[in-house]
Amino acid sequence: MNLNCYNIVIIGGGVIGTSIAYHLTKHGCRPVVIESGDLASGSSGACDGLVFMQSKKPGIHLSLAMESLKRFKSLQQELPMDIEFRQTGGRVLIQTPEEYRAMKKFVCEQKETGLDVCLMDREKTLEAEPFLSPEIYGSTYSPLDAQVNPINLTLGFALAAKKNHAGIITQTKVLGILTHNNRVTGVSTTKGDIKADLVVNAAGSMAGLVSEMAGLCIPIRPRRGQIVVTQSASRVISSCLISAQYIAAKFDPSLAGQAGEGISVEQACNGNLLLGSTREFEGFRKENTLAGIRRIISQTTAILPVLKTLQVIRTFAGLRPYTPDGLPVLGPVRSLEGFFMAAGHEGDGIALSPITGELMADMILGLKTPIPLDAFSPERFEAKGGLAHD
Ligand SMILES: Cc1cc2nc3c(=O)[nH]c(=O)nc-3n(C[C@H](O)[C@H](O)[C@H](O)COP(=O)(O)OP(=O)(O)OC[C@H]3O[C@@H](n4cnc5c(N)ncnc54)[C@H](O)[C@@H]3O)c2cc1C
Repeated sequence: MNLNCYNIVIIGGGVIGTSIAYHLTKHGCRPVVIESGDLASGSSGACDGLVFMQSKKPGIHLSLAMESLKRFKSLQQELPMDIEFRQTGGRVLIQTPEEYRAMKKFVCEQKETGLDVCLMDREKTLEAEPFLSPEIYGSTYSPLDAQVNPINLTLGFALAAKKNHAGIITQTKVLGILTHNNRVTGVSTTKGDIKADLVVNAAGSMAGLVSEMAGLCIPIRPRRGQIVVTQSASRVISSCLISAQYIAAKFDPSLAGQAGEGISVEQACNGNLLLGSTREFEGFRKENTLAGIRRIISQTTAILPVLKTLQVIRTFAGLRPYTPDGLPVLGPVRSLEGFFMAAGHEGDGIALSPITGELMADMILGLKTPIPLDAFSPERFEAKGGLAHD
């Protein structure tokens, strides 16, 4: 295979597609990224920037995130853009004794996976975050949790890939996957056909639709998240915050309806606070709703009353690429030679992008991956009626 021409097509110019492109160029390949809009015009440009370890399921999910975290520090130096990576630490806010008991168990499991995390009572929590409501019950804290600017990260990967001679083609939509004898031969686009030996589906929340173009049924669907942004303020939180409810809603969609979706609060480098978020299945609708915004504001101000003194300057919504088991879909599709999946990161795509790019590059080039990837394989949906190829 001649790797010195565009024989690898990556569909999607979000954080995942651009990270894969960058990591492939580090091996001397020259892939091409095809993006229907602009770079970061999907969820990578409509999200928070939490690199949160505590919100990952203990086990392989958390291990993957911890591997990814290790790579952020060097990316801050390596990429030709300030990605604003800061290891501020992260706190999960506990509001009831029931949540405290559940989080105690969760912390034990996280520790078994190797995470540096501890439980704190109300007094210690308020000492660390004095602007929190005195009603808070307690918290868990990990010094490893961090934050990054997701748009700069995506653009940083893309710029670095381009410097290394990758192609980046925007405003071009992939309309079909070209195949011959169960083998990928390229893609058809709004600007014509592109021949390719390998095609990577990194289309985020639209990855299910792109898989359908190849006759595959991979259950990735959009899960909307709304965010409220405040004016810039002097520092009101020292670490990123999420609520224990947020973790429950993330892993059990029925809880999002019953107990509420939980909250996240992040203060960006420039002082703006990002308040989030909702978890809704509303198809591909990206608009904000009054109910969503109201809920975010009432829940975040109850936990952090100082927010009431700040102006809201804008709101936005993005679509998380949801999978039924909460894990991304990474690797080759056996029934269609040359077709790779790299999508379905739900609310973790920013945090997992460095390791995803590295692992995908390894898999595409047939190299041994540093971690076993069976849990992420597209084939896991086969038994559940997915992956049919005709
Ligand atoms: C409200 C909210 C908060 C979040 N907070 C966090 C967080 O704090 N930390 C974290 O790690 N993650 C977070 N996420 C999740 C994160 O945003 C996603 O997991 C990540 O951005 C997914 O990246 P992606 O590259 O797979 O998808 P995207 O960024 O959506 O990129 C896919 C791209 O593919 C393009 N595309 C689709 N179809 C085609 C086609 N046919 N042809 C060409 N191009 C196509 C799209 O235009 C899009 O640009 C959040 C998400 C939301 C919505």
